[in-house]
Amino acid sequence: MRRGMTLAYAHEKRKRILQELRSDAHYRATDTIYYGEHDPFDVPLADCGTCGGKPTVRKVSAKPIRWRAVCGGCGNQHKAVSKWPWLAALNWNGINLASQDYHAFPMFGLSTLDPDAAREVVASIRRDLELRKALAGIETTIARKTGEISPPGRTYQQRLEAYLQWAMLALRLVKAEKMDQREEPHSKTKDRAQELIHTTCG
Ligand SMILES: [Zn+2]
Repeated sequence: MRRGMTLAYAHEKRKRILQELRSDAHYRATDTIYYGEHDPFDVPLADCGTCGGKPTVRKVSAKPIRWRAVCGGCGNQHKAVSKWPWLAALNWNGINLASQDYHAFPMFGLSTLDPDAAREVVASIRRDLELRKALAGIETTIARKTGEISPPGRTYQQRLEAYLQWAMLALRLVKAEKMDQREEPHSKTKDRAQELIHTTCG
């Protein structure tokens, strides 16, 4: 709960978020709110981008409980510690993109999409999730202060957060794919130049 947020402001903000969530424009802009069957708390860890090793998620502090994924091979790890093991895993995946492909993403239906289309789908999902997360936060505040509405469940809020982090990871992977595509002609030119050098030297 944010300190200093007046009840009137909270109600006003809730009204505005609900208006946007229920608007035709939002409905049209949101490709899907179906994310697939995959449990968002189940995060398969990507191989280490530095050494190709397998990471594990470890508890790094007990009070408060914090988690971090660490590579068993080279000790590579994310700088930040996480509140939940699944978040530590997603953070790890976010800095070890090389062994992942957004086409194989376990949610959001990206398998057949090119990077531009995939980015559009995930960006719309992210916007939807951000609104729902903001709404859940406001409703928690109102519920605590007044009891007029029942607060959104903790698991529901954590699921929103998890899906949001998955969406951020998907956007990173799409961006990386696009950069690879842009660099490809470049590196081919370089390869050809090297071939020429070899031919000339040989
Ligand atoms: Zn490693």
